[in-house]
Amino acid sequence: MTLKASLFSGLKDKKVPCKVRGCNGTWLWEGMDQMRWMRDGKTDAPLRMCPSCYAKYNDLEDVEIPCANDSCESSWVWTRAARLSALQRGRTEPPRDRLCSACREQARGGPSMEVPCRVRSCGGTWTWSAEERMAADGGTGDAPPPSRMCEDCYQKFKDLKDVGQPCRIEQCEGTWKWTRGAQLEAGAKGFTDPPKRMCDDCAEVLRGLEDKETPCRVKGCDKAFLWTRPMQVEAMRFGDGQPPTRMCSECFSAFNKLSDKKLRCRVPGCSGTMSWPRIAQLEAARRGQKDLPRRLCRECSEEIDALEEKHVPCKHQGCEETWAWAPEAQLSSRRKGRKEGPPRRMCEKCKTFVDSLDTLEIPCQGCGTSITWTREHQLNVRLGVWVKPTLCAECRRSGHGIEDTASAEPETAASPQIGD
Ligand SMILES: [Zn+2]
Ligand SMILES: [Zn+2]
Ligand SMILES: [Zn+2]
Ligand SMILES: [Zn+2]
Ligand SMILES: [Zn+2]
Ligand SMILES: [Zn+2]
Ligand SMILES: [Zn+2]
Ligand SMILES: [Zn+2]
Repeated sequence: MTLKASLFSGLKDKKVPCKVRGCNGTWLWEGMDQMRWMRDGKTDAPLRMCPSCYAKYNDLEDVEIPCANDSCESSWVWTRAARLSALQRGRTEPPRDRLCSACREQARGGPSMEVPCRVRSCGGTWTWSAEERMAADGGTGDAPPPSRMCEDCYQKFKDLKDVGQPCRIEQCEGTWKWTRGAQLEAGAKGFTDPPKRMCDDCAEVLRGLEDKETPCRVKGCDKAFLWTRPMQVEAMRFGDGQPPTRMCSECFSAFNKLSDKKLRCRVPGCSGTMSWPRIAQLEAARRGQKDLPRRLCRECSEEIDALEEKHVPCKHQGCEETWAWAPEAQLSSRRKGRKEGPPRRMCEKCKTFVDSLDTLEIPCQGCGTSITWTREHQLNVRLGVWVKPTLCAECRRSGHGIEDTASAEPETAASPQIGD
């Protein structure tokens, strides 16, 4: 005995955690006390309260709480110790679902119930114990089960945290809260990504909006695209509130099948090209335009600005008129590498006159055979350059004629040269 005593005499005072659940305090276990305890053959430290808990404990009293079964008059005792423990966890109210001992006894024999997990897409169940059922409806079986998760879901739920997710409106910096519960639901459905959702501010704007039909941006198209509510929110919060310029779905898919085209410059002789963008092609198609557009290449359109219409004298001797050499024709001449200047061409007046004429057959005054009097010859006669023929070539050669005007006119004037 004395040997043992001396063995324990060296024990030091020790801090031991308070026995009250939820309390982080400690109480001091003195060496002497430890020695006595161990002499009794016990190895674990005794369960005691910290001084603070002990003080509170002394202020508390056991209270009688009515049985959770509404049809039972009896009660159960909420002990000082249980109240202290509840207090330590911040609870001042007694648990509501506790039965008196008689009811508890009765419920123990009753049926439990398997209730579907509250997570909608989870196929699991949780067990609604007989005691809890009794507390809910006094054993009548009337009360609906509470909404609760299965054990599996609860374990997952514990590890989840509410997370802020970016607003689905791209320019918006706001966030919305993806709650643990919603994450669990999503997970049960097999989704891992958060849904697309708006922040509260955007959602507020969204309220009361409706999708709107908005004209297709393609000129000549009379269809519409759907200006959706989220798009409207975007425009209202981060834009000018106006609908965007978009294509209808038909135009959009047509547009995607097109590619920009290169077209030849319309100036004859120019090898330049210009781009015909897809959108312009689409608009042409919508307007029912079948021909390719005829436009100037970039170089030509820059060069043409420096050119002016030139008034060029009519090619016909004796005509005082001019014809207009258009800038584009000048450009074409340049592109064809011509350096000699304007082409020889009739003025408008001469041309109109020639066009109004017919080639005539007139009789030779010498032999009566028919002479072909061309339209241009007729013009030259009118201009006073030549004279109207009277003899055929044969008669002219044999000197039949009274006057000879052949020097000023060709052998036959069969091929009028109109224009260039
Ligand atoms: Zn304590
Ligand atoms: Zn009871
Ligand atoms: Zn579940
Ligand atoms: Zn937002
Ligand atoms: Zn369209
Ligand atoms: Zn060109
Ligand atoms: Zn003329
Ligand atoms: Zn003749």
